[in-house]
Amino acid sequence: MTARPLVAVTDVLPRAWLEPLVQACDVVACDEDAPGVLSPPILEAAPRVEGLLCTLEDRIDASTLDRFPRLRVVSTLSVGFDHIDLAACAARGIVVGHTPGVLTDATADLAMTLMLACARRLPEATASVREGRWGRWRPTGLLGLELAGKVLGLVGFGQIGRAVARRARAFGMEILFVRRTPTDDPLGRRVDLDTLTANADVVSLHVPLSDETRGWVDGAFLARMKPGALLVNTARGAVVDTDALVDALRAGHLGGAGLDVTDPEPLPADHPLLDMPNVVVTPHIGSATTDTRRRMARLAIDNLLAGLSGRPLPHAVALPAASTLAHNGGPG
Ligand code: NAP
Repeated sequence: MTARPLVAVTDVLPRAWLEPLVQACDVVACDEDAPGVLSPPILEAAPRVEGLLCTLEDRIDASTLDRFPRLRVVSTLSVGFDHIDLAACAARGIVVGHTPGVLTDATADLAMTLMLACARRLPEATASVREGRWGRWRPTGLLGLELAGKVLGLVGFGQIGRAVARRARAFGMEILFVRRTPTDDPLGRRVDLDTLTANADVVSLHVPLSDETRGWVDGAFLARMKPGALLVNTARGAVVDTDALVDALRAGHLGGAGLDVTDPEPLPADHPLLDMPNVVVTPHIGSATTDTRRRMARLAIDNLLAGLSGRPLPHAVALPAASTLAHNGGPG
C-alpha cells in the first residue's frame, strides 16, 4: 500500500472545497483560533508534511521551510506570491503553485467599485444619510467625478489590468497602460509612466509586488499625478509609499484613494487614512466572492496534487533559474 502524502492547510476552508484533497491525501488542519503555517498542529506535524496549502498571510521563507524537511509542494491560495521566498523553495527542490485567472473578474469588479466609490464620494454621501444630514437637494451638493470621457491609467496590464480596462471602456473611459512587454492592444494605449501619471484622471495599480515595484508609488510619482486625480490600489499595499500617500491626500493634491490593500495590513484603526472622507479602504477583499474563492481552492488543490504526484503544476510559479539549475544538479 502506498502511503498517502500529508498536506498541511494553513487556514480554515469549507470541507466541501477540500474534498478532492481529502480524497487523495492525509490532511493536517490549522488550529481554527490560531491559523497560519506556524499553527501548533501544523508545526507538530511539520517533519512529515509533504505539501502545504497556504495563503498570502503565510511568510514562506527559509526559516519556515527549514521546519518542513520533507516539503515538496507549496500551493498558495492567491495569484500574488510575494510572501514566498522562491529562491529558498528552488534550493530545496520545492515547486510552487498559485491561482492566476480565476480571481480576475472578482478583483477587477472591486477595482471598479473602489473607483466609483471615490469618484462619486460614496463614504461622504452615505455618512450624511446615516448621520441625519440628508437635507435639501442642492445643485452643488456632493459633486463628484464623472468617469465617462476621463482617462484611466492602468499600472500593470496583465489579467486584472485588462479586465479593469474592459469594464472602464464600458463606462466611457479612455485607457492608458504601463507594462514591460511592448504590445498594441485595442483596449488602450501603452505609454511610459510619466505620460500615464500626467494624463490619468484615475490611476489603478495592477502590478505584482516585486523588488522593482515595491514603493513605486512614492512622493515623486504622486506629485506627477494630475491635481484631483484618484488612486486605486487592488495590487499590493507595499507598491505604494503609505506616508507619501497620506501627505498627497492631506495636501489636497489627490482627489481621493480607493485601497483594498495597504501597508501595513491590517491598517490600524487610528491610521490617518481612515480619518479622510475621500478615502475608501476595504480589507483585502479583491477575490472575496464565493465563486472565486471556491475556484481558487480547486486550483490550489490541483496544483498540490499535481506536484505531489510528480506532474507539472497547472499553474506553477517560475522559480529563479540559477537556483533551479543548482537544484537540478544538486541533492534535491
Ligand atoms: P498578471 O497577469 O501577471 O499581470 C501583471 C502585470 O504587471 C503585467 O502586465 C506585467 O507586465 C506588469 N508588471 C509586472 N512587473 C512590472 C514592472 N516592473 N513594470 C511594469 N509592469 C510590470 O497578474 P494579475 O493576475 O493581473 O494580478 C496582478 C496583481 O494583483 C497580483 O500580483 C496580486 O498581487 C494582485 N492581486 C490582488 C488581489 C486582491 O485581493 N486585492 C487579488 C488578485 C490579485 P508584463 O505583461 O509586461 O509582464
